[in-house]
Amino acid sequence: MNILLLGSGGREHALAWKIAASPLTAKLWCAPGNAGIARAAECVALDIADHAAVVAFCRANKVDFVVVGPEAPLVAGIVDDLEAAGFKTFGPRKAAARLEGSKGFTKDLCKAHNIPTAAYERFTAAAPAKEYARKQAVPIVTKADGLAAGKGVIIAETIAEAEAAIDMMFSGGLGEAGAEVVIEEFLIGEEASFFALCDGETAIPLASAQDHKRAYDGDKGPNTGGMGAYSPAPVMTAETTQRTMDEIITPTVRAMKDMGAPFKGILFAGLMITQQGPRLIEYNVRFGDPECQVLMLRLMSDIVPALIAARDGQLKNFDLRWYDEAALVVVMATNGYPGNYGKGSLIEGLDDAVALGGVEIFHAGTKSEGGKITANGGRVLGVAATGASVAEAQQRAYAAVDRIDWPGGFCRRDIGYLAIGRQVSAG
Ligand code: AMP
Repeated sequence: MNILLLGSGGREHALAWKIAASPLTAKLWCAPGNAGIARAAECVALDIADHAAVVAFCRANKVDFVVVGPEAPLVAGIVDDLEAAGFKTFGPRKAAARLEGSKGFTKDLCKAHNIPTAAYERFTAAAPAKEYARKQAVPIVTKADGLAAGKGVIIAETIAEAEAAIDMMFSGGLGEAGAEVVIEEFLIGEEASFFALCDGETAIPLASAQDHKRAYDGDKGPNTGGMGAYSPAPVMTAETTQRTMDEIITPTVRAMKDMGAPFKGILFAGLMITQQGPRLIEYNVRFGDPECQVLMLRLMSDIVPALIAARDGQLKNFDLRWYDEAALVVVMATNGYPGNYGKGSLIEGLDDAVALGGVEIFHAGTKSEGGKITANGGRVLGVAATGASVAEAQQRAYAAVDRIDWPGGFCRRDIGYLAIGRQVSAG
């Protein structure tokens, strides 16, 4: 098959790596891709926000299947446009992508179907939002309704902070995304990332994973797109997984189908595992990054038939197999991230790092200039490793990190500590 993958991050590098390994793949392109993806796919300089250009590329190159990595084109309806032009595409249509595109939509769906989530209200103006916030306990969470590139959630420790967040959003600080705001209860527990492959009717849970969102060691500092991840996540016991399927994922898939917007693709639930059980923090409608990197390392099955079966509504009798080994990824970011950072710093030692064995390096934001790899973004590399346990995968990943010569970058040194703590205490 001729396959086109859309996106340019570590998630897409991991997907490209796995799709390229399928015997069903004759040709793989990635648009726009990056320097690492160029090893697994032919990168094409397409603007993926320009749906007509993507359709034209598919026509000119006889593309058989399209896989969409990031949320923005999904929420903008690229699957609808590609399917209308006759191209089979993996990912939710625009109406189903509202699960990520509108937090208010998802909260109302939870309320209507008794899906456990934080108590909330929706607002379209600052004054009533503030009035509501004043009556709630702190901390309290203020969220922009729309896509805000990870900047749309503010956890306020005081009412004054909550009011400032409300003013910032309604005065256009996050653009259109903040025209509507959700205010919700602060949940206490441990976070986990839960992924299910869906075909509109059937949902198959993937292996569990957990990421680290804060920039610095000890889960301190500003929120980021994710500084590392591992799989499996010990917090996701068999019982919690079953409850998540029964109480959150299955009712959502059924509700979407019933409203005529069946969800096909990867449904990614951000969960808080509270003392009362799993609670939905938010939905995303695609793989998480960096979680996708560890999931692809652990996936034994060929991914291409799985993606096609999801698109075709044929997951009912489908089975995914996973390696028992754990996987862990350390994200290396440019100094200054998630604030301001420069571009173009030189990265060396990547081949040395991979030579350790059991190590894969996924590129998130790199460029190749005259045979040299340079940094071209905030999150730049995912240094991933497998091992018999999360602890062993962690050791390998950091041994690889230590072989990478990049004075312009940094990483956390404690990715996986919660899982390792749990495994040690479990004896
Ligand atoms: P989101 O973009 O909705 O995933 O939110 C980003 C991060 O904010 C989450 O990963 C949580 O760490 C935190 N967060 C969001 N909503 C809540 C909540 N209701 N209670 C506690 N933490 C939250």
